[in-house]
This record gives sequence, structure tokens and C-alpha cells, in this order.
Amino acid sequence: MYSTATKRRMNGSCRIFAAMNTKTHSIIREKSGALEHRIVIRQFGSRRPPQWQRKLVKIFDEMLTKVWQSMDEHGFHPDLPSSRSVGLLGGYLVTLALLGVVVPGPKIQGTVLADKTRITYKCNGFSVLLILLAGLAGGSYTGHFSPSIIADLGGELFVATLILCFVFSIYLQTVGSLSGSQSTSLKSHVTGNVLHDWWYGVQLNPSLLGLDLKFFWIRAGMMGWLLIDLSIAAKMFQEQGSLTLSMSLFQIFTLIYVLDYFWFEEYMTSTWDIIAENFGFMLVMGDLVWIPFTFSVQAWWLMTNRVQQTKVATAMNVLVFLIGYTVFRGSNKQKHIFKKNPKALIWGQPPQLVGGKLLVSGYWGIARHCNYLGDLLLASSFSLPCGFTSMVPYFYPTYLLILLLWRERRDEARCREKYKEVWVEYCNKVPWRIFPGLY
Ligand code: NDP
Repeated sequence: MYSTATKRRMNGSCRIFAAMNTKTHSIIREKSGALEHRIVIRQFGSRRPPQWQRKLVKIFDEMLTKVWQSMDEHGFHPDLPSSRSVGLLGGYLVTLALLGVVVPGPKIQGTVLADKTRITYKCNGFSVLLILLAGLAGGSYTGHFSPSIIADLGGELFVATLILCFVFSIYLQTVGSLSGSQSTSLKSHVTGNVLHDWWYGVQLNPSLLGLDLKFFWIRAGMMGWLLIDLSIAAKMFQEQGSLTLSMSLFQIFTLIYVLDYFWFEEYMTSTWDIIAENFGFMLVMGDLVWIPFTFSVQAWWLMTNRVQQTKVATAMNVLVFLIGYTVFRGSNKQKHIFKKNPKALIWGQPPQLVGGKLLVSGYWGIARHCNYLGDLLLASSFSLPCGFTSMVPYFYPTYLLILLLWRERRDEARCREKYKEVWVEYCNKVPWRIFPGLY
């Protein structure tokens, strides 16, 4: 259990980051005129955020504390890593890198960058994931390791991964700061504030031994999330002899989500993280620690909490998942196809555009970020199997709501700068940001 001092420290984590952000961003204002930096300032300017936003962050803050306590109660004990967990983590990353190189896959040209260059991404994530799963299944079937090994070493793996992220982000900052390259991908964006540069990163798309690090890192995080989930399911099976309906629902939903993510990995190449965010601790830790270890909270919680699932509740849960999936996948696909071929039909009709650049057909005519709405419905469907007795399993949808509200504002600022009056016209035509009729 946690001491009062520890709890207090955990409670304050969000506030520390908020304070840090406000300070560092006012420094950037003086030093940089670059587009992306101006956008960030608008998010963290000295203006106090509205009360509803502060309330949301406070709820999230309290939830984070409860999540840690709950994880601790359910068998997830952060501990100093043993050589076994370090080996497991290292082996996982090396295997993933090697498979990424040797397994064939389509080579996709990324978005055109400011210097007119494009990065080529090998989108073989789906095949890599299947090989990885087959290898792990084979290894546990032949008795080389237990299928619950990741869950058993969960707390140690968490600490090992966190340490790796600290070390790796310092490496990125050091190498990035020394970069003399003027290309958009590798240009060094040093602000003079060491903390800011470490947190947000100094390069857009750093690489190592020909590997695009950002693309690799998010892949490792998403696959890691699935592996943790499956390992927890194996642990439940070993300890209780079967999976509850709630656990099965959670596992099926997240398995589909991750497989789908890698089936459509090509769509990742035009997302905000890849095209607009430098690679610093925020993304390094977000991808490899935050995603796998916090998105699997429901599975830990379901290990020891039984939920009575009625047929109606199960049907409603599946419905939320299916609607969420349809909106999420459909909207992301429409935008991706439009960017590749602006004349492609949308819902069987020629696309309607604003200023010849922005889509107002399909989901993009209902709200400016229907894809966020779909993702939020999906996130809710991952938590609904846990019922409503605790707020702990709702950590992921709550986090995602905060993240996407913030991101939508940042994206809005970026698009306003980029598209100018065309964006204003788009906003007039499509007034809703995320939730049609509500927000
Ligand atoms: P989007 O995929 O929504 O991309 C936004 C960009 O799309 C804009 O900057 C603009 O870029 C372009 N765009 C905006 N409106 C239009 C339009 N009407 N017509 C054509 N182009 C338009 O952003 P994200 O990368 O944030 O999200 C991608 C997905 O990832 C979402 O589904 C999101 O929910 C999900 N996600 C999930 C997270 C999680 O933790 N689960 C975290 C973050 C995202 P351009 O300059 O190219 O025109």
C-alpha cells in the first residue's frame, strides 16, 4: 500500500506537469516563430484554463491515484527489475526490430513534409504481430515460458520500461541537439530550455540504423498492450480455470482493435503524432509505458472483480463497440482515401469540398473530428464490461476524452494557420467539433 506522502506525490503529478508546461511555453514564445511552436503556446499560454477543464483534470488526477492503488491490490507491484524482466523487455524490442526489417510488407510514402521530402514506411506490422503471437504461443505450448510471464513480471517490466524511456529520451535529446541536418525530419529544434526539449523532443522523425524510431516505438507500445492483455487472460485462466464473460468481452474488443490498427497501419503515417509531434519523453513514455500499462487496467481489475453481465448489458456493450468501430474506422479511412485520391467516392457520391482542400462529405461533414468520437465510443466499450461499481476501469476513456479535447484544440490551431479562410468556411459549414449537436 502507499504512504500518505506517496499518495500526495501522485496526486500532484498532473499539477506539476501543468505548471511545467505553462512556464516552458512562455519561454518558447520569445525564442521561436515556428508554426508548431506558436500552436503549442496557445494551449499552454498564461491564460487560466476554463473551470470545466480544470475539473476534468482534477477528476483524472484522483482517478490516477485510485488506479495505482487498485493495480497494487490486484497483483501489479512496481518493483526493481530483475535480469529476467530486463531480458524480456530487451528481447521483445530486438525481436520487433529484426522482424520489422526482415518481414516483407508494403512500402508506404508518408505525408509530404515542409521540405517536400517524404519518409518511406514499411507497413508490415500485421505480419510482424502474427509472427510474434505465433512465437509466444509456441514458446508457452512447448513449456519454454509461462503464457502469464508478462503479467507475472508486470510491475518489474513497468519499472524497466520507464527507466528505458528516461535513458532513451536523454539519448534522443543529446543526439538531436547535435544534429546539423537542415531536413524537416532531422533538424534540431533546441529552444534553450533543457526540460522542454527533453519533454517535447528536438527532432521530428529521428532514426537509428535505418529504423524510423517514432514509427517503431508506437508499434512496440500497441503490440505491448495486446501482449499484456493476453498475458493477464492467461493468468486468470491459470488461477481460476476459466475467463469471465466480462474478461472475454474486454479481450475480444481490444484484440480486434489492435489487429485492426495493424491491418490499417498505413493510415498511421498521416496522423498527428507522426507528422506534427517531435519525438521526446512525452511520446517515448506515452507510447511504450502509458499505452500498454494503463490501457490494460480493466484486465487487471477484472482479475479480481466479478461483474454480473445481463444479456441486455452485453448486447448494448457490443453495440457501442460496433458503432464506435464503424465511425472510427470509417472516418479515418475516408480522410486517408481522400488525401490519396481527392476524387474518390464518399458513401457512393462524389466528394464535396471546401476550397478544394477540405472534405465536407461523409463523416467529415457531420463533425470536424468524428474519428475522435468513434475512438471515444470504442474506449467506453472496453470499460463497459466492468460495470459501474468502480471508476477505476473508466480510466482509459476519461484519459482519452481529456487527450482528444486538448488535441482537437491543437489541431484546430494548426489547421487555422495552414488553411486560413478555407478553415473558417469549413467551420461554418461543419460547426460541431467532436460530438454532433453537443460540442
Ligand atoms: P486526424 O487523423 O484527425 O488528423 C487531423 C488532420 O487531418 C488535420 O491536421 C488536417 O491535416 C487533416 N484534416 C482535418 N480536417 C480535414 C478535412 N475535413 N478534410 C481533409 N483533411 C482534414 O488526427 P489524429 O492523428 O489526432 O487522430 C488519428 C486517429 O488516432 C483518431 O481516430 C484518434 O482518435 C486516434 N488517436 C488515438 C489515441 C489513443 O490514445 N487511443 C491518441 C491519439 C489519437 P492536413 O494538414 O494533412 O490537412
